[in-house]
Amino acid sequence: MTAREANDSPDGPTILWFRDDLRLADNPALQAAVERGEPIVAVYVLDEESSGIRPLGAASKWWLHDSLLALSVSLEEIGGGLVLRRGPAAAVILSLVAETGAGAVVWNRRYGGAERAVDTEIKQAATDAGIDARSFQGSLLHEPWTVTTQQGGNYSVFTPFWRACVAKGEPRHPLPSPDAITPFDDAVASDELTSWALRPTSPDWAGGLSDAWTPGEHGAIERLAFFIEQTLDDYAEHRDEPAVLATSNLSPHLRFGEVSPFTVYHAAEQARRGASARRATSATKFLAEIGWREFSYNLLFHNPELATRNFRPEFDAFPWPEPDARALRAWQRGETGFPLVDAGMRQLWKTGYMHNRVRMIAASFLIKNLMIDWRIGEEWFWDTLVDADPASNAAGWQWVAGSGADASPYFRVFNPELQQKKFDPTGDYAHEFIPELGTAAYPRQIVDLGETRQAALAAFEAVKRGA
Ligand code: FAD
Repeated sequence: MTAREANDSPDGPTILWFRDDLRLADNPALQAAVERGEPIVAVYVLDEESSGIRPLGAASKWWLHDSLLALSVSLEEIGGGLVLRRGPAAAVILSLVAETGAGAVVWNRRYGGAERAVDTEIKQAATDAGIDARSFQGSLLHEPWTVTTQQGGNYSVFTPFWRACVAKGEPRHPLPSPDAITPFDDAVASDELTSWALRPTSPDWAGGLSDAWTPGEHGAIERLAFFIEQTLDDYAEHRDEPAVLATSNLSPHLRFGEVSPFTVYHAAEQARRGASARRATSATKFLAEIGWREFSYNLLFHNPELATRNFRPEFDAFPWPEPDARALRAWQRGETGFPLVDAGMRQLWKTGYMHNRVRMIAASFLIKNLMIDWRIGEEWFWDTLVDADPASNAAGWQWVAGSGADASPYFRVFNPELQQKKFDPTGDYAHEFIPELGTAAYPRQIVDLGETRQAALAAFEAVKRGA
């Protein structure tokens, strides 16, 4: 919003609605609120079921608690504070507008179907009431409607999608954090964060998560700096090896918007310029992975039911048997007898994260060796990942299942033993998460890889016949 536009809006404070953008730096909605010049009421709304927005999983809730704490401290440092409200987002925001006599509401856009429906409702109601409602681009480098094929269609293959993004030129540079904001002086009621019970209590299973992560903008910026300075050089060569710290671990920070993709993009781009061939290749590869995040959001935007509906409808004919509850439990607990799968599932349980290569292997094992519907695995990841993302999790599972856009073909079945020889040859990763590995206490293999692979391929014939 320019200063001229800002002057056109009615007087009264600005409601700054934080959602998946829990940061001060490179926050276009925050910048617009500051430019408008009126006092700011910053708010976060916990909307758990009423608007059709998927409720957060347990690990994400843990993250959110700490991230909101960090955000409110950062806001206090520049003179503001964070109001916490709970309930149907549209109703909550509109009642806050009425309570405070606000003249404007601003936010950064989200791209899921239910999320967009909420925003449309608020925009309409605010506009009808003569209130300025404005949304901004803060969470994606390229919004889905800006990347189309030459015929105006949607991309369903990654490489041309990313090529089209790159051809659009450099994304804008990040905006600075404001030094100060004008707070709204009147008292505004706020929930106590603890009353939301986002953190687990009995039992408190989050010790491993706290050891592994520092949610919040400062943690995100530190993680980015560490990656660019210490690990980027190794990214291209070692990013598939789970025992090596070669990837950025930025995913939960990006998920909650504690760092913007614009900030990440320019940090990597700057590292690429004038760098050694090894560093430059790594930066290009890393940016392409940021591209996969963009691609996943593009898919979600055009397919709001990405987490529950096969992208390729021919997969609706897949003859999923009744899930084997014992096998599912063994997979969830990391007790399948296949070390790479088990280490991944235990890493997930302990830290709320799993290395990308291992996600592919663990997902393939569930879908193709245990013949359990990808949606059941997607839900487990949704509940246990700190980076559980409405777009990337659904797209990742559909990619492995073969039912997704630009997916790995169904007949590609990852062999966890061969994958381990290739990507964890020393067994360092497996041993880190399976202390009893190599002893009689380690579980026996719950399936025969060859037989289950054949059964999966036979079931796939049903899809081919239906296609
Ligand atoms: P880096 O390699 O450092 O990549 C940088 C960033 O790019 C990541 O932080 C992430 O934002 C993005 N990115 C990287 N790979 C992908 C990818 N394949 N798809 C989309 N974005 C990507 N990623 C999530 O952020 N949330 C999820 O819920 C999620 N679920 C997944 C489920 C399955 C079954 C699979 C196969 C992949 C999933 N991914 C998900 C993608 C990927 O595994 C993670 O983004 C990555 O492991 C995060 O580690 P990193 O930050 O070190 O990644």
